[in-house]
Amino acid sequence: MNNFRGQGFHLTATKHEPITLALISLKTALQSYFKTQKNIAQAWTSLGSNEPTDKASLDVFYRRTRNGMTYIENYVETIIHFHHFVELMCIELLRMEHSSLATEQCKESESHKEVYKRIRKLPNDASTRTIDSTIGFDKAIKRLHALISDDNITTRTWLNNPNLAFVDKTAKESMLQLLALRNLLLHQGTFILEYDYLDLFVGTKVLPFIINIIQLPEFSIYNHLWRHPEIACMKTSGDRVDPISEIVLVCKNHYNREHIAFLKELGRSAYQNLIPNHEPPKSGFGASMGGNPVRIAARDRANRALKEEDVYGVRDCLVCGERTLVLYEHSEMDIPRSVVEARCTNCTFSIDKRFQPHKYDINVLDLWISI
Ligand SMILES: [Zn+2]
Repeated sequence: MNNFRGQGFHLTATKHEPITLALISLKTALQSYFKTQKNIAQAWTSLGSNEPTDKASLDVFYRRTRNGMTYIENYVETIIHFHHFVELMCIELLRMEHSSLATEQCKESESHKEVYKRIRKLPNDASTRTIDSTIGFDKAIKRLHALISDDNITTRTWLNNPNLAFVDKTAKESMLQLLALRNLLLHQGTFILEYDYLDLFVGTKVLPFIINIIQLPEFSIYNHLWRHPEIACMKTSGDRVDPISEIVLVCKNHYNREHIAFLKELGRSAYQNLIPNHEPPKSGFGASMGGNPVRIAARDRANRALKEEDVYGVRDCLVCGERTLVLYEHSEMDIPRSVVEARCTNCTFSIDKRFQPHKYDINVLDLWISI
């Protein structure tokens, strides 16, 4: 077997399929990014410190420990899949204006505007798209920005949409930074952003751009392909907590490592929730046992945990809403007893006393009860 190119299939059979792969990448990127807070827990106290010993131990952590290597693995997945999502979506936005806009290369010293003028005269037929000649990330974001920002192009149709005004100079430069970080991984394999800077890069550069894309009515109908099930806890305003938009808000106002890590843990465990959208116990047969076998097993694990010596009690989980959040108390004799850790037996949500959910504008009682 020498010709593997002929043994696959193209995701182009129906109208929405070109973006399916993009949304799979978005889901992978978010899941990987959310996991980074778990990877870093071992080195938490060294983060942000200027002490030489802390800097040295953080360096050892990133380079020499299993959790450090897992952080790097999740970092790579995050950058590569965010990059892939943005590239495919920029290409799709160009195609929505004209099928050849994402394939036609610039001739020598030809601007994107001139390419557009030339392409307008070509037949706009989606079936002419070919995979081989599609432009890359760099050209796609630059062409998109050039055509959207130039008000002198009066013949635009789709690209004239005011919902696309977010593709401004700042957004273009943010996405070129994403490309640079991805290239540093793929072509050199030597550069990894440290934990706080990954948060700031994702929260201030990447997620704002992505939110603008996925909110476009043409794409928001496919949220089920990438979004996690709804999170049970509510903000004090009455809105449901959405980690993606909250991370953007916290990074924009004042970066708070603990708050962002808490939001990432909400997102990470929401993807693990196998009882989507807080499905109520069904009536009729099985209702007394909670109906869903996943729910029955999770409640059973929580009830069994109650028999353990260091378990204080069980509460409704902030993420899945099930009564499966087991509260663990401190066991050392010389420290006043209090709840110090909470772990859900359903969605795997798990936090310790570093985090203060009741202080993050979330309508929840303090978990860290003094006993
Ligand atoms: Zn849960």
